[in-house]
Amino acid sequence: MILNETERKIIESSIRDIPDFPKPGIVFKDITTILNNAQAYGVLMNHLYQRYKEYNLDYVAGIDARGFIFGAALAQMLGIGFVPIRKKGKLPYTTISEKYSLEYGIDEVEVHIDAFSNIPNARVLMIDDLIATGGTANAAASLINKAGATCVESCFIIGLTFLDGIKKLEEKTPVYTLIEVS
Ligand code: AMP
Repeated sequence: MILNETERKIIESSIRDIPDFPKPGIVFKDITTILNNAQAYGVLMNHLYQRYKEYNLDYVAGIDARGFIFGAALAQMLGIGFVPIRKKGKLPYTTISEKYSLEYGIDEVEVHIDAFSNIPNARVLMIDDLIATGGTANAAASLINKAGATCVESCFIIGLTFLDGIKKLEEKTPVYTLIEVS
């Protein structure tokens, strides 16, 4: 199930563009203006629920930090557990980690070693607000596999299609984006 035109317009028009944030040349896609709009947030969450209720998922895994907002709400709607994939150094128990390259330097994401262990071969939906270069999402998808689960799809509210992040991630997992920015 994909978005219908009415839903798309409501969600698209509630995303705010902030030019030159956090640095010159970047147009930051601000989703706080979806969250504080009950209609837009509701349409979005209802769409995600309708799409994923048939996927037979065991967990939703959200990427630090905006992926938590959509992922945790969706997990509750689906009646399944939520797993946070966090930036390095935030999780208190034993973790598995995965490094990825940034424009300058490297970053790292982590998940608890036993995050998916209650369900053998767990079926996981990964979610974040936006995919740009795909570096974060690729590392997060690897972590899900390393933790013994399967990433059955990765979902992003916004996909930047002028970068090749979606194509690269599709080698690892199916990718679903609600709004594409070209
Ligand atoms: P990437 O690893 O390049 O795909 O970057 C994805 C992460 O950075 C996501 O967690 C996004 O929230 C954030 N991000 C990257 N570019 C933007 C942008 N133009 N607007 C808002 N968030 C962004």
